[in-house]
Amino acid sequence: MSAVAAQPLSRLVLEMNESATIKMAQMARDLKAKGHDVIDLSLGEPDFDTPAHIKEAAKQALDAGFTKYTPVPGLVELRQAIINKFKRDNGLDFALNQIVVSNGAKQTIANLCLAILDPGDEVIIFAPYWVSYAEIVRMCQAVPVEVGAGIEQDFKVSAEQVASAITDKTKIVLFSSPCNPTGSVYSKEELEAIAEVIAPHEQIVIISDEIYEYINFTGKHASIGAVPSVKNRTVTVNGFAKGYAMTGWRLGYMGGPAYLAAACAKIQGQFTSGANAFSQKAAAFALEADMTPTWKMRDEFLQRRNIVIELLEKIPGFIVNKPEGAFYVFPDISHYFGKSDGNVTIHTADDFCEFLLLNAHVGVVGGDSFGAPDCFRISYAASEESLRKAIGRIAEAVKKLN
Ligand code: PMP
Ligand code: GLU
Repeated sequence: MSAVAAQPLSRLVLEMNESATIKMAQMARDLKAKGHDVIDLSLGEPDFDTPAHIKEAAKQALDAGFTKYTPVPGLVELRQAIINKFKRDNGLDFALNQIVVSNGAKQTIANLCLAILDPGDEVIIFAPYWVSYAEIVRMCQAVPVEVGAGIEQDFKVSAEQVASAITDKTKIVLFSSPCNPTGSVYSKEELEAIAEVIAPHEQIVIISDEIYEYINFTGKHASIGAVPSVKNRTVTVNGFAKGYAMTGWRLGYMGGPAYLAAACAKIQGQFTSGANAFSQKAAAFALEADMTPTWKMRDEFLQRRNIVIELLEKIPGFIVNKPEGAFYVFPDISHYFGKSDGNVTIHTADDFCEFLLLNAHVGVVGGDSFGAPDCFRISYAASEESLRKAIGRIAEAVKKLN
């Protein structure tokens, strides 16, 4: 594609793929607007409201005049609360100049990639991966190198796989645990093994996206940044969107080497400046407040996961994983490739999801954009009633495919 004179667009935007999660959510909204009863399980967003005590803290901050610009890396009060959180939950030690608060973990990851990557550099991304990783890397003219794990290895890559993907051009290793889109959780031992193969390569920064940390059903969250051999080269990314149901507040953060924090703040200072003042005040409060609402949400997600798995496993041709965290399930539906309802033939997971949207009025996202073309993602951050109804409809719709 090339830009025409009347529409002067950059190569960067022309070559960029739209976020598949956001695109699918929009398609579901459009169909809903036409009067259809659509159940949208496409977007990864808790269906719970932000806990009342956090909203109250934001209201108080507004009344107290927290309506101005903030320091680019974040309010000192929030950064201090983040330092305490990293120490308490993750065994990580940071100073104030190692923390940067952004408008969401998405911006944090973009800052980091812009700060580290030159054109042609390679980024090892564990696949299945969250849709924006590969696009952000490409935006930096760097090369995403996918290291893939199928459902048979619980979608978790091994240290050997990582070792064989490392080259002299590798600058970043990027992954999430608990993982979006699979819900897989890397154990401490698995992370130690991965750290061991990365450790000798001093040019590599590890970006560990732990935004689903609090939605973990194993009771054990491990941070690769706590492994001594890679401690000084790991950036731990987190945010408020998932664990505190604060998606719309737009707040994420990182803790990592001071030189990278400074670089990210420099970039952010030219793009967006400091994040929202009263959101930051509320977030500082949230980190040190009672976590009961978060654990209640986690327990609710676990119950829903069990229901969703049980129902999906009954659908012929579905191979269903057992996620240990986040709020996604990621079944393999390659059984349906080549099958048709007499009208359309399913060639890809994206075809399958479009078929479900049109025939079952259920919004889900194809695995193609997650680097896993045999699977699709269901976000079960919805009521039990909606989930039962949606899966019932999916089961009916796929009967048409022969
Ligand atoms: N990382 C992962 C794995 C995610 O699923 C999301 C979801 N949006 C993000 C980062 C970005 O989070 P935020 O809303 O804080 O930008
Ligand atoms: N992270 C969520 C998801 O995967 C929100 C949408 C997005 O930012 O991509 O669906």
